Amino acid sequence: MSPGKVSNLNFEKFYNIIDGKQRGSDKIHHGINPASGQELWDVPIASEQDLNDAVAAAKKAFPAWRDTPIEKRKELLGSLAESFQSYSDEFISLFCKETGKPKKFAAMEVDGIPGLIGFHRALEVPCEKIEDDEKTVYTEYSPLGVCAAICPWNSPLVLSVGKVAPALLTGNCMIIKPSPFTPYTALKFVELAQEILPPGVLQVIGGNNELGASMCAHADIAKIAFTGSIATGKKVMATSAATLKRVTLELGGNDASIILPDVDIKKVAPEVVMGAFRNSGQVCVATKRIYIHSSIYSDFLAEMVAFTKTIKVGSPDDGDNMLGPIQNEMQYERVKGFFADSKAKGYKFAAGAPDVQASGTGGYFIQPTIIDNPPNDSRIIQEEPFGPIVPTQPWDDLEEVIARTNDTSTGLGACVWGADVEKASQIARRLEAGSVFINSWERITPQAIFGGHKESGIGGEWGKTGLLAYCNPRVIHVYKS
Ligand code: NAD
Repeated sequence: MSPGKVSNLNFEKFYNIIDGKQRGSDKIHHGINPASGQELWDVPIASEQDLNDAVAAAKKAFPAWRDTPIEKRKELLGSLAESFQSYSDEFISLFCKETGKPKKFAAMEVDGIPGLIGFHRALEVPCEKIEDDEKTVYTEYSPLGVCAAICPWNSPLVLSVGKVAPALLTGNCMIIKPSPFTPYTALKFVELAQEILPPGVLQVIGGNNELGASMCAHADIAKIAFTGSIATGKKVMATSAATLKRVTLELGGNDASIILPDVDIKKVAPEVVMGAFRNSGQVCVATKRIYIHSSIYSDFLAEMVAFTKTIKVGSPDDGDNMLGPIQNEMQYERVKGFFADSKAKGYKFAAGAPDVQASGTGGYFIQPTIIDNPPNDSRIIQEEPFGPIVPTQPWDDLEEVIARTNDTSTGLGACVWGADVEKASQIARRLEAGSVFINSWERITPQAIFGGHKESGIGGEWGKTGLLAYCNPRVIHVYKS
């Protein structure tokens, strides 16, 4: 065993983890390495019985975990973070295989996990005194019980651990269902946690969409923390309504970036490109519409195109690559649909080409592509491609571009770029989005609540406010005489 490691984990075998134990299944599936098209390791598909057993184990574990002092829960989360860190290399390698992300970006995501847990460990569950006179009234926050995390494939570790840390800190038990496209790192993370946490506190069951639906219907699950598409989010809410579960829904977006005429074009254009194309556009808060002031439209677009042409796309192992593949075939075909539609409608490809070329490696690679000034009602403006293709449009009138930015049923993120920060801030306050960035692309931080307006979600995660989404408020009224 290497120094600092608490146990030897096998990174070639994967199990569901129920009541502290590894469990296989008669039914298995496997992920595909999106950079090569190669099949990855078998993973078990959890049955209804597995789900029921996991919920029963969580229910059994809950009272003792709830009553464990918060300092002790924080200590155990700290041990989990340390233990995870000792396996950093193995998790980076596994993460590259399941997501296809270039190694340096995979490393940033994996190495950020201990910090994400550490941030939550620094939080306190509040207790608010409302009145302290002839009677005392205070609000305390108690855990909900058994929670479930239903996760997507684009950032499988951050989006799982970002649910686990606040849930466990506040005294809940958690069952994770990773995406069937990227189950590996979440399964291994939970396996690792069994060395540290009591059985039933943190469990993982792999499976397909039906398993997610069964979790939403389960009478003994108190909350679903869901990240994924808007369409699925609506199903999660509808199914959860039967048992009046709490839901937190982190859904898709169609973020706009407004570029004011006074920006430093050479500096800002490459940043805006990165905001659109990082992780090949497979980011919920990626920039998906770019509105450039008409006085600088041609120059700004030319800089964007020049920078886009320098971006290298390829397999995780080549250190120069900025972008990896699309994570799965279904999404690859969906993104290609935006290329086909833009080609059929005769839109101008300022960077990239109308026909997506096969990469020759069997991987789902797409060169980053900019569509120059498609109409407002085009598919590429109206929908979230979740891939490396982004439209630009000019604007002249500030009121009009604010209206254009807000003219969508989504409201996850938005950006405003301008040398006059006060002016940019005034615009930011008028945008209907959960996170607005001034002179930056969408860099979310665990210190702040992250959630969407409109159809981009219900509630939010992270930050102090995010903790409370794992709690029921309880008001205590003490009459002193
Ligand atoms: P998806 O909605 O297809 O799947 C997400 C998860 O839901 C998967 O685990 C899936 O198995 C499960 N699921 C599917 N049907 C279900 C059902 N009926 N009931 C319960 N669970 C079900 O999403 P995806 O394709 O994995 O992820 C991409 C989408 O996620 C994009 O739209 C993106 O914008 C969004 N996203 C949002 C955020 C955010 O925080 N707001 C972050 C990342 C991704």
